[in-house]
Amino acid sequence: MPRNERKNARFERTRFAPSPTGFLHPGHLRNALWTWGAAKAFGAKVLFRLEDHDGGRCRGEFAEDAARILERFGLVPDEGGPELRQRTRNGRYEELFADLAARGLAYGCSCSRQEIARRSGGARAPGEELAYDGFCRERRLPPCDGLVWRVRMPDEAVSCRDLLRGTLVQNPARQCGDLVARDRLGFWSYQFCVVADDLDQGVDLVVRGDDLLESCGRQLALRTMMGGDGAVAFLHHALILGPGGEKLSKRDGAVPLRDLLDAGESVESLVGKALGLPPLPVGEALERIAEGISRAWKKPPVRLGGFSVVPRGES
Ligand SMILES: [Zn+2]
Repeated sequence: MPRNERKNARFERTRFAPSPTGFLHPGHLRNALWTWGAAKAFGAKVLFRLEDHDGGRCRGEFAEDAARILERFGLVPDEGGPELRQRTRNGRYEELFADLAARGLAYGCSCSRQEIARRSGGARAPGEELAYDGFCRERRLPPCDGLVWRVRMPDEAVSCRDLLRGTLVQNPARQCGDLVARDRLGFWSYQFCVVADDLDQGVDLVVRGDDLLESCGRQLALRTMMGGDGAVAFLHHALILGPGGEKLSKRDGAVPLRDLLDAGESVESLVGKALGLPPLPVGEALERIAEGISRAWKKPPVRLGGFSVVPRGES
């Protein structure tokens, strides 16, 4: 992409934010390459943080592994580090939540998943979300153990800007219903933390796998409720899929990058494999991704099942 074009679209900051619940595997490498590549395309900084809101499954050795792997691949964050974690931000999450509650935007819910499913009646298509029906919205349940805390989602179309796909129009109230901010055990939810972090840390470009495509509307709605503007864009890239077409994860037997490196596989080979290309150096991979993003930027929009996609600039 010519330099002058890169200047036209600028973002301040994107982030690489793995959960320290396992060693980084090739799927993480793919996301990291896309993140650093997008940063290159738009002149953005990369912030590195760890998403350990789910305290029970996080371990120190996984956090150290994430930092070490980035170093091995020459992916240097501009900001943050393995010490930038969600678990240190509980006070801030409390504050944001209290503000939502004071404005009548949050409430306690005692419904079990089975109860919600029973009330929703009809069968759902495979993979279709179970939308919460707002049963407890007006019940004004007093705080007690075992309650889930939800945030009201507006029943309206939310337009999200995706750099590869154009505008994604989603209605969070119909997709998922009122969003869980804090679970029964008192842990803050992924959605709540990630929106609060991106807002507080000045992240305006979110690069992530397309398994998270459906959640950009709810995140944008929550961001607005927390006082943020809509000035955040998404870039959803395809995932590396396992042999059965499933998302690659430790559970599915994805081999950790550190084991592959220890077994003698080269950085270039792993980078190539993560992108479905022959072996190539990291710098070249980032350049190719940056160019690919630029080309996609100019392509006509695509139609995706379940979402209306309108041409960029017409929303
Ligand atoms: Zn409920």
